[in-house]
Amino acid sequence: MHDRGDYKSGWQMEREWDEAEKMRKRNLALGEDDVDQTEEDDDDDDEEGSLPFACFICRQPFVDPVVTKCNHYFCEHCALKHHSKNKKCFVCDKPTLGIFNTAHEIRRRMAAEDK
Ligand SMILES: [Zn+2]
Ligand SMILES: [Zn+2]
Repeated sequence: MHDRGDYKSGWQMEREWDEAEKMRKRNLALGEDDVDQTEEDDDDDDEEGSLPFACFICRQPFVDPVVTKCNHYFCEHCALKHHSKNKKCFVCDKPTLGIFNTAHEIRRRMAAEDK
């Protein structure tokens, strides 16, 4: 008793895998070509692009985002909570001096995303 079905599907799989591998290599080659061309100038929004999307302390999206003198962003409540235990920045260890400014850039971005 020969189970031809199994044999056939095995053979097909091998063949399909072969095709897939060929495709993958082709895509890889094409992809590599693309890399050289993707160096576009994004002058428009480079500032917004460098803004973090989450608080370093709670790792959640910002709630009332604030920015320290050393340009690190936290939720207001996270910044204050951390400051009550540690007077240095959570990220870079510079003294924050208790100065947490409203992070207008992030609030603006959040407002834009809320639309
Ligand atoms: Zn937080
Ligand atoms: Zn810092």
